[in-house]
Amino acid sequence: MSKNINPNINRFLKKKPDLSVEEYYKGIISEDRNILSRAISLLESSRETDKEKASEIVSKCLKHSGNSQRIGITGVPGVGKSTFINIFGKKLIEQGHRVAVLAIDPSSNITGGSILGDKTRMTYLSGREEAFIRPSPTAGTLGGVAAKTRETMLLCEAAGFDTVIIETVGVGQSETAVSTMVDVFVMLLVAGTGDELQGIKRGIMEMTDILVFTKEDGDNKTRTQLAKRQFEAALKMFPLKESQWTPEVLSVSSVEERGIDEVLETLQKYFSVIKNNEFFDKNRNSQLVQWFYEQLDTELKNIFFGNEDVKNKLPNLQKEILERKKSPIGAANELIKLFFKK
Ligand code: GDP
Repeated sequence: MSKNINPNINRFLKKKPDLSVEEYYKGIISEDRNILSRAISLLESSRETDKEKASEIVSKCLKHSGNSQRIGITGVPGVGKSTFINIFGKKLIEQGHRVAVLAIDPSSNITGGSILGDKTRMTYLSGREEAFIRPSPTAGTLGGVAAKTRETMLLCEAAGFDTVIIETVGVGQSETAVSTMVDVFVMLLVAGTGDELQGIKRGIMEMTDILVFTKEDGDNKTRTQLAKRQFEAALKMFPLKESQWTPEVLSVSSVEERGIDEVLETLQKYFSVIKNNEFFDKNRNSQLVQWFYEQLDTELKNIFFGNEDVKNKLPNLQKEILERKKSPIGAANELIKLFFKK
C-alpha cells in the first residue's frame, strides 16, 4: 500500500458486520433507526440470502406492526407534496406522533433516480428523530416496488412509527398500488392547472377520501375557492363508498402554514368513522389477502421466467409467433409444458 494512503482506510472501507435475524429484530423493535435502515436495504437487495433473511425479519416483526395510520398522498410533480408533507409531519410530531414517509416513484425506473423521498425536500422532517424518510427502491416493476413498500411499512411500524405516509407521484398506476396498502387516500391538486380533470378521468377520484387543494395563497386564493366548490359538487355525483365516508374537499397553504390543522381534523374524523363502522379492519384484512395473492403471482412468475429451459426457448417462440408459424396460445402452452417437463 502506498504511504500516502491513510493506513486506517481499510477500517473505513470494511463492510459493517452482518447482523443476525434476531439482532435485526431486536434492533427494530427497540426503535434503532440505523438497524431499521439496514433491514430495509436488505429487503431491497437482490441477493437470495439477503431476501431470505429479510423475509424472516419481516415475519418476526409482523406481530409488532399494524398500529399506525397509513396515509397515501398523491399528486403530480410540483403540486406541493413534499412541502405539504414536511409541514403536516411537523404538526403530527408536535402532537406526539412518529412519522415515516415512504415514497413510490414509478418514474424512477426510467430516470434511475428518485425524485420522491429525497431528504432535501423535507427539511424539517429530515432533521428529526421522530421522522424517517425513505424513497422506494429504484429497480424493478411497480408490483415489486409495491411489495417492498408494504414490507418497509411493516418494519417502520414495528420500529414505533405510528403514522406512515406513502407518497406517490400522480401518474396513474402507482395510485392504485398505493390505495391497496393504506387506510386513507389523500389527493393534492392545484386549482386551475388542468390536473383536476385528469384526476377525474383516470378514476383516481373514486379512490380519494380527502382532496386537498394546495397553494391557496396570493393570486391562487379565489381560483382555489371556486375549484373547491366545483369539486364538492362533482364528488356528490359519485356513489357512496364502501367505507360510508363522503370525501371532503379542503385547501391549504403549506408556505403560510394554513389549513393543515383542518386536514388533521378531517383525518381524525375519517379514522373515527371507519373504525366505528368496522371498515378499517375489513379493509386491512382484504389488503392482506390481496397482498398474499400478489406475492404468489410475482413469485410464480419469477420461478417460471427464471427457469433455464423457459429462458432459452422464449426468444424462438416469440420469433415463431411473429412469423405466424405458431399462435400465441399454442406457444404459451408449449412453454408451460416445457416448464413442467410434460
Ligand atoms: P412536489 O413535487 O409535489 O413534492 O412539490 P414541492 O413540494 O417540491 O413544491 C413545488 C413548488 O411549489 C416549490 O417551489 C414550492 O415552494 C411551491 N409550493 C409548495 N407549497 C406551496 C404553497 O403552499 N404555496 C405556494 N405559493 N407555493 C408552494
